[in-house]
Amino acid sequence: MMGMAYRDKDIFASLCQKMLPVLEEKKQRLGRKLRFMEVCGTHTVSFSKTGVREVLADYVDLVSGPGCPVCVTDQSDMDQMIAFAKRSDTIVATFGDMMKVPGSYSNLYKEKADGAEVRIVYSPSQAVEIARQNPQKQVVFLGVGFETTVPSIALSIRKAEREKVRNYFVYSAHKLTPPALQPLIQDPTHQLDGFLLPGHVSVIIGRKGWNLLESLNEPAVIGGFEPIDLLTSIYLLTLEMNKERRSVVNNYSRMVRENGNEKAQELLKEIFEVDSVKWRGFGILPNSGLRMNAAYQSYDALTNLPVDRPVTKGIKGCRCGEIVKGKETPFGCPLFAKACTPENPIGPCMVSSEGTCSTYYQFERGK
Ligand code: SF4
Repeated sequence: MMGMAYRDKDIFASLCQKMLPVLEEKKQRLGRKLRFMEVCGTHTVSFSKTGVREVLADYVDLVSGPGCPVCVTDQSDMDQMIAFAKRSDTIVATFGDMMKVPGSYSNLYKEKADGAEVRIVYSPSQAVEIARQNPQKQVVFLGVGFETTVPSIALSIRKAEREKVRNYFVYSAHKLTPPALQPLIQDPTHQLDGFLLPGHVSVIIGRKGWNLLESLNEPAVIGGFEPIDLLTSIYLLTLEMNKERRSVVNNYSRMVRENGNEKAQELLKEIFEVDSVKWRGFGILPNSGLRMNAAYQSYDALTNLPVDRPVTKGIKGCRCGEIVKGKETPFGCPLFAKACTPENPIGPCMVSSEGTCSTYYQFERGK
């Protein structure tokens, strides 16, 4: 199939005729609905936006996972970023979606209003430009994101190195996706029948990058974002459940290769090393993040720009920590759509357009 065909209504309808009875049969056999986690925030949005969530609702409960980078960034990381912004000699450069994410006492938006130099950029290389134009300042780029965003940040460090820009630094709060799924699979209180794996991350790490899930024999399908991708991925997940020996199925082969993007992987290895880092809701997860390696320490904001970081405290009443683990839905948060709205977000899951609370606010209320 080519491009638009993945949205073709007639093909979708005929696939429904074939696939939904298989889901129904599985549901009957289990005596309950199937329960799959979509790991990626873009999938959460796509299921709602395309209406596929509703098509599947009689058979499948879809649970959102830790796939929104802003949402899984720990509160202590937010405090660290805000502390950088408070340095009088420092310009903080960030993607716009970080501006309203709450730290324990403030957010970047408020700091900017109070006079801090916080600039929104569309790419990390823009931050290198800001550094070049402001040699008397230190410029910190806030590195938040999964395997998909890290290559562009690695390239910005290479650019700074090549162009001898010495006042450019990165705060690396980057996360690796597969290690976050292990505790969810191994949690005996979590009833999950399988995982819809993020297409974008898989483009970088490849089908092979999900070996961990294969070794845990967990049903898992890599999927794209169009209606037919979503439907067929859920169908394939159901088929995987029936198998004794599961493998990670690549249902996004028009974009995802077995070995992923090896160039991007090399670039990451050159500049970063794997570390155990803290995730919102999960705590410290082994080998789940990226820190600058020894050779690139001179670009590491954490090592080079000391700050006084306040004692981190949680956000009162916010259930984001449970939502990113799929243990709670936004409807379970008493603040959802009352005190907490996209205009006045209390937690990160409402700030980010890919956050589960923001998606449910936009598409799922009143259904
Ligand atoms: Fe947090 Fe707001 Fe979501 Fe509640 S609705 S979990 S306060 S982001």
